[in-house]
Amino acid sequence: MTLPGSPFLAWQGPDLCLDGVNLRELVRQHGSPLYAYSRQAMLAALAPYQQALQGREHLICYAVKANSNLAVLQTFAQAGCGFDIVSSGELTRVLAAGGDAAKVVFSGVGKTRAEMAEALKVGVKCFNVESTAELEVLSQVAHGLGLTARVSLRVNPDVDAGTHPYISTGLKGNKFGVAHDHALATYERAASLPGIEVVGIDCHIGSQITDVSPYLDALDRVLDLVDAIEAKGIRIHHLDLGGGLGITYTDEVPPKADELIAQLLARIDARGHGHRQVMFEPGRSLVGNAGVLLTEVLFLKEGEQKNFCVVDAAMNDLMRPALYEAWMGIVNTQQRAPEQAQVWDVVGPVCESGDWLGRDRALSVEPGDVLAVLSAGAYGMTMASNYNTRGRAAEIMVDGGQTWVIRERETVAQLIANERLI
Ligand SMILES: *Cc1c(COP(=O)(O)O)cnc(C)c1O
Repeated sequence: MTLPGSPFLAWQGPDLCLDGVNLRELVRQHGSPLYAYSRQAMLAALAPYQQALQGREHLICYAVKANSNLAVLQTFAQAGCGFDIVSSGELTRVLAAGGDAAKVVFSGVGKTRAEMAEALKVGVKCFNVESTAELEVLSQVAHGLGLTARVSLRVNPDVDAGTHPYISTGLKGNKFGVAHDHALATYERAASLPGIEVVGIDCHIGSQITDVSPYLDALDRVLDLVDAIEAKGIRIHHLDLGGGLGITYTDEVPPKADELIAQLLARIDARGHGHRQVMFEPGRSLVGNAGVLLTEVLFLKEGEQKNFCVVDAAMNDLMRPALYEAWMGIVNTQQRAPEQAQVWDVVGPVCESGDWLGRDRALSVEPGDVLAVLSAGAYGMTMASNYNTRGRAAEIMVDGGQTWVIRERETVAQLIANERLI
């Protein structure tokens, strides 16, 4: 049975293992549902980024929102990464995990004054500013504190990343970034404001991108702007090309990170911009295929039109199928006879018809089996909620056969702790 995109997942006899750890055993020990991640898989996904950028001034800023567990952030901090954050909560996580504030870029369309002040005080590398209005407020906040905000404008290059509409961010109709046509004027405004220092330019065109061409198109548009901005005497130190590289969930064949970067660097050099620091903000491509969501089969419910395999994980644990109709691989962690296979909709206990993890899946399964939802390392746990008063799953990190509980299972007592009777 093939396992799309997950090099550290493998069968040992009939048992599915993550970096040598038997996943069914893991659920016996730690309960279900359970997220499990391979630290080695994360580092292996980072390596091609680092290799392709070797010898060049660069910074890889892991996008915290993909998977913000402290142990994940610690793994990337120890590997030399910076971080792309979108809230002061994420900043707190980065610092708690040993990350370096001087390697943090602060993205997002809706930063509050309090968040700006906090990031200024710890000395983040750069604010990725998304509007003129934000720029004016950032200037006031920085000036008021007697500090300087280093800024890069997130420009919207108006290219179609060819991905799902909810995760496409570089088109004119999106809420993100400064419109390409207004970028030059906004840079001139930035250069004139107190408390602001222009240091770079950035773009981020979407997520789960499986082609090189939208990246090259966006890069060309960004470099056109850099030429125009520098012609006005404003110095651009770094080029931040965002994240967005896709992973294999089923049969997608995204470019490899090193091949993508080689092509981008070649274009940067050919256009005479090779002296600039190059930055990326990968999220999904570093952690997506490093993780699985494990869930126990509660009941098999055969119907006239559909058979339902009811599991104990739900849309609150893993939202991607419900939110984007995302297809994620589902396998039984214990291989059973293939001739037993039937077609099932794998559904959770939550009271919504949208609560499904997979539809029309051929699975050989019995109650009590443990299923693994594959490629669940990114935008899984970070999007989890407490809908239906369900505590969030525990998280486990494995590394070379060793395991760590990196987040305890949430209890109902914790869920209601902040509520009060009238
Ligand atoms: C979400 C996000 C990323 C990471 O995107 P991936 O598709 O997970 O690589 C990077 N930069 C910004 C600004 C983002 O919002």
